[in-house]
Amino acid sequence: MNKPKLTFESLAIETTRRCNMKCAHCFRGDAQNVDIDYQHIDNLLDQTEVIGYLEITGGEPTLNLDALKYILNGLCKRGIPLFGFSLYINGLIYNESFIEIIKRYKQVIDVSCTNCLKSGNEYQPTKEIGRCNIGISLDRYHEQHDICMEHYQKYKAALTNYADVRIIMKGNSPHKIGRAKNLQEALDISFKYDFSQKQRIELLSKDKVPACKNYNAYHMFHEDQKIICCRVCMNVYGYLSNECGNQWDWASSDSYPKICNVSDSIWDSLIEYNKGKIPCVQFQELQFEKVQRELSIEQTMEWLNNPDAKDEPTYNQKEQTAELKKKMYALNHPKSLIESLENVKKEYANYIKAQENLRKAKEHEAKDWEQIAAETACYSYYDGDKRGDMKPQASTDQTIHPAIKTADGLRCGFCSKVIQYQGRNIHCTPTEDGLQCQYCKHVNTV
Ligand code: SF4
Repeated sequence: MNKPKLTFESLAIETTRRCNMKCAHCFRGDAQNVDIDYQHIDNLLDQTEVIGYLEITGGEPTLNLDALKYILNGLCKRGIPLFGFSLYINGLIYNESFIEIIKRYKQVIDVSCTNCLKSGNEYQPTKEIGRCNIGISLDRYHEQHDICMEHYQKYKAALTNYADVRIIMKGNSPHKIGRAKNLQEALDISFKYDFSQKQRIELLSKDKVPACKNYNAYHMFHEDQKIICCRVCMNVYGYLSNECGNQWDWASSDSYPKICNVSDSIWDSLIEYNKGKIPCVQFQELQFEKVQRELSIEQTMEWLNNPDAKDEPTYNQKEQTAELKKKMYALNHPKSLIESLENVKKEYANYIKAQENLRKAKEHEAKDWEQIAAETACYSYYDGDKRGDMKPQASTDQTIHPAIKTADGLRCGFCSKVIQYQGRNIHCTPTEDGLQCQYCKHVNTV
């Protein structure tokens, strides 16, 4: 079957359902031992021409860095332009390889913007930090604030000029979903579950006009272009749903109506899915009325205005004046897509070559990935998962120090880094003499 290539205005990909925390307000509920199959990523990218905005979701996305890298390489291999990226993490892991991957996403966005948007003096990729967003959840329910705050500061410093790293506080006003069902203060939005199933996914092509209030923001690069205007999400099993399909606990998400599996033709499935559904604009109005009726305006406004629930503003929110916004808007007019894609492909080819040379030059990269695997294996909550159990090794280092005990774990007695967290060895290896710190290699007695 001929599957048309699509432009996703906004796309979310769930890469893992594993998590290394157990927050009281988690709308996903208990973590699951599931990672995305790369075949689903290939099936999706094979049908993709352009991605406006890509969000990686979980679980905890840093537990599956290989998938992040696979998506990035998939974009480069196929020459798919990407104009924006975001990823929210809990900050419990600090990882140099994660930083390298985010820098590469920023490079891909810069290549895409420079080649597809009107270039010239007006456009400066380095000013566009807001196109690459990393959120670190530090609300009142997230665990281990001291470690995560330390990592937030380190990530912010390491990604200066690459990503807008900011604190996410939305979790301070949780919804009664998943584990948060037990929280008295959580807001009940269960009506939205049935209601959002009636929402149409707006499409723009030469014979389709979307009922979308952002209509003027869309541009056809070429006359056969097929644009998916509303946000769609792919879960770990390769199923696509509308945005709301991704906003519930795992069980509800899995039983939420799907558009299709990405092995099917997404465009044909969308046309079928939309039959009898409410246009998006109308849906938003109806939803607002529903919110007003069910919750009362006061309750809704109270929730919306809760200062405690406000995220740290993005670079764009902070820096953009109205005039600058206008200017940015004008910059979104693309040049011819055919020409742009050719340029992107060429740039990507150079980029891939440069990366490959770098990889060969730096043999330690392979070691880094092993280390990530070892670290992620230590973080697991599901029953019976034994991957975190490391075998004791004989110590080669005779320098032994007593470990420093903290409220939630242990720090290395020599370099003071956190090596054990809530009983789990996160940055150390058990040896016959004690715990060997992964950073400074000194052995800590406990
Ligand atoms: S809220 Fe985020 S960090 Fe906390 S348990 Fe859920 S997925 Fe994990």
